[in-house]
Amino acid sequence: MKSVEYSSLEQAAEIWRASKVAVALTGAGISVASGIPDFRSPKGLWSEFAPMEYATLDAFIQEPNKVWQMFLAVNKLARECQANTAHTSLAELEKADKLKAVITQNIDGLHQLAGSKNVIEMHGCGRILACPECNYTEALPEAGLQIEPVPCPRARTIPGSHRTHRYLKPNVILFGEDLKREVIQDIIHWQNSMDLLIIIGTSADVYPAAALPNAVKALGAKIIEINVEPTRVSRTLSPCFLQGKAEEILPPLQKLVLA
Ligand code: NAD
Repeated sequence: MKSVEYSSLEQAAEIWRASKVAVALTGAGISVASGIPDFRSPKGLWSEFAPMEYATLDAFIQEPNKVWQMFLAVNKLARECQANTAHTSLAELEKADKLKAVITQNIDGLHQLAGSKNVIEMHGCGRILACPECNYTEALPEAGLQIEPVPCPRARTIPGSHRTHRYLKPNVILFGEDLKREVIQDIIHWQNSMDLLIIIGTSADVYPAAALPNAVKALGAKIIEINVEPTRVSRTLSPCFLQGKAEEILPPLQKLVLA
């Protein structure tokens, strides 16, 4: 394992300015300043809802009412939050054509709220309810997620059509579910065309996001990483590593890139 090298804003800005196709990969850390703790921190969601007990498709099939409590908690958090300066800086960079896309593992919708247009939501989004059996979808009501699991309307009208799933769920990927095919296609497209990956606020431990840094590095792209602490990427791939909070680093970095 290599030792971590720390870089300056100016070094990162120079790399970013020289790039033609920059793409950001974001994780829970970018939304911490918006009031959504990353899942692993002591106050994070996983401390209340053990992932293998709540965040699996099997758990939702077996105990929909129980898993719904986790969906309610996530929905409440996301509804109370606003985009922060890290999200808005990325939106501004996209507007100025210095960022082509944001690939996010987050399900909070804050990139879109900040004005980003080309957002690939790797793990889906919590604004839509979907039936895992028949792919029926509907928007979440304005008032937020219903207090109890919502049966799929098609399950009622087409008897026998739903053998495994009776309820809609927020359109997010649970453990045990595959990523949507269009999402994989989009990620492969950017993986093959980007010359710069900016990794922000993710431990990059969760696959398939974990595979992207290695894949783009092998294809010759540069990597900038922004995180409050070194990660596997900073320890193994020698990125241009900026240690600190995304919401504090991205606004001055945006200014330098667009100067
Ligand atoms: P993670 O919890 O594994 O890692 C978060 C990373 O962010 C850590 O490396 C941490 O050091 C860093 N970080 C924390 N605060 C930061 C800040 N202010 N600025 C910069 N970096 C900061 O999260 P992950 O890698 O995204 O993976 C966890 C999974 O949980 C993902 O699949 C994601 O879908 C889900 N998740 C989503 C949300 C959300 O939608 N906001 C929140 C929590 C978890």
